Amino acid sequence: MSPSPHRPRLRLFDLPLDVINLSDTLTLLGDWLADPARRPHTVVTLNPEIIVQARSHPEFARAVQDADLVTADGVGIVYAARQLHAEEVPRAPGFDIVRGLMQRHGAELRVFFLGAKPGVAEAAAQNAVRDYGVVVAGIHHGYFGPEDDERVARLIGDSGANLLLTAMGAGRQEVFNGQWRGVLGVPVMIGCGGVIDVLAGTAELAPAWTRKLGVEWVWRVAGDRKRWNRAPRLLNFVRMVRAEKRRKG
Ligand code: UDP
Repeated sequence: MSPSPHRPRLRLFDLPLDVINLSDTLTLLGDWLADPARRPHTVVTLNPEIIVQARSHPEFARAVQDADLVTADGVGIVYAARQLHAEEVPRAPGFDIVRGLMQRHGAELRVFFLGAKPGVAEAAAQNAVRDYGVVVAGIHHGYFGPEDDERVARLIGDSGANLLLTAMGAGRQEVFNGQWRGVLGVPVMIGCGGVIDVLAGTAELAPAWTRKLGVEWVWRVAGDRKRWNRAPRLLNFVRMVRAEKRRKG
């Protein structure tokens, strides 16, 4: 809830979007990490799925509206901002933010890895220690129900983490970070989808060419049967943007 005055904030379908590139994102998060007051902040990397889901889930919409930083995860959001605001919004995808923070801050980071199937976050943590020298504040898998939210939030709050990676799937992860923000109390909390899987090596990062074009979702959808139903949803998003543009006149 603290968009800085010099960082323009747009609205896309009632959700905020900060116009900020990857490098400035890393600098801003670095400031939050360095603040001795350890004020908690939540980060959302916005994608079309979030926009579509949040329309029918008020709790999810609230978590995005209350986020301290909302970056454009992919090309779908860049497209929507161009269509609806004639703005060129740079991308700051979740994985690039997490890797960039680890590269810049290494051993200053006390990371809590929350999410993915049992065992995967352990592997992610081991690799992050090996590759970036981060300190592991804690680890928990992402398969627990709402009745365990408070227990897990307290575990994280007591861990002394300064970076929380919450990778439990779009919606669940943003709502968890937003609802428990006070108990979590972590200076930087990011909802970051499949990032723990990628760090663990159980999922591959999309190839560089798709990342350069900003279309890594094409690769993900094509390579994962579970995601085949998402392609029509992305087309729906394009339709939604067109309709909104007509409505705005
Ligand atoms: N995940 C989890 N708990 C759940 C559902 C998913 O920890 O209840 C993890 C899953 O194992 C994966 C990550 O969340 O590591 C992203 O999942 P998925 O790709 O299905 O979600 P998306 O972010 O693409 O919606």
